[in-house]
Amino acid sequence: MRALIVEDEPGIVSYLRRHLESEGFVVETAGDGDVALDMLLTRPYDVVTLDIVLPGMNGYEVCRRAREMGVVAPILMLTAKDGAYDEADALEIGADDFLRKPFSLVVLVARLRALLRRGPAPRAQLLEVGDLAIDTRTHMVTRSGKAIDLTPREYQILEYLMRTPGVPRSKVEILEYVWGPDFLGDENVVEVYVRYLRRKIDAPFGLSTLKTVRGVGYKVE
Ligand code: CA
Repeated sequence: MRALIVEDEPGIVSYLRRHLESEGFVVETAGDGDVALDMLLTRPYDVVTLDIVLPGMNGYEVCRRAREMGVVAPILMLTAKDGAYDEADALEIGADDFLRKPFSLVVLVARLRALLRRGPAPRAQLLEVGDLAIDTRTHMVTRSGKAIDLTPREYQILEYLMRTPGVPRSKVEILEYVWGPDFLGDENVVEVYVRYLRRKIDAPFGLSTLKTVRGVGYKVE
């Protein structure tokens, strides 16, 4: 079970990390909202704890944007009573649960386990670039309303690029997301799959949505 702890107070981070690791979680941490969003977009987590007051964008903004970009990982927001937002807002923007600070570790772990058992909530997640659309829940891909059949790897590459339209991703980033950090093969495998993808999503429609950014990588636009 991979958990992401988004929290900027080192004391709480090490406390949570120690405890969750002893409960069998593999823990990663982010102390900044912008970093957290990037991690959520690029790595799969089974569960996330998200603090609200953070350097960079705040926890609400991280949650809202992550959901908009198709992240389905269950999110537990750690809220405080005072401030511009309240707990109802947390659920409204796509958090699965919330816990008010200060919280008890036992309760936190129980809530995380409940979220894990429940798994990602079914959310209609449509990502669109022009007339190309993918549903991140069903993995259905369409262009101009016509269904396109992709292999799982092709789909994952496309989903990754469509989460951040216009932003180029390097071969290494794509490899890490689609094949995982332990992949030791040739990074040119990405080129091969990009070619397959273009044959399915672009060529039949006379379009070039999947672009090569010289010296950087690939993007959809
Ligand atoms: Ca904080």
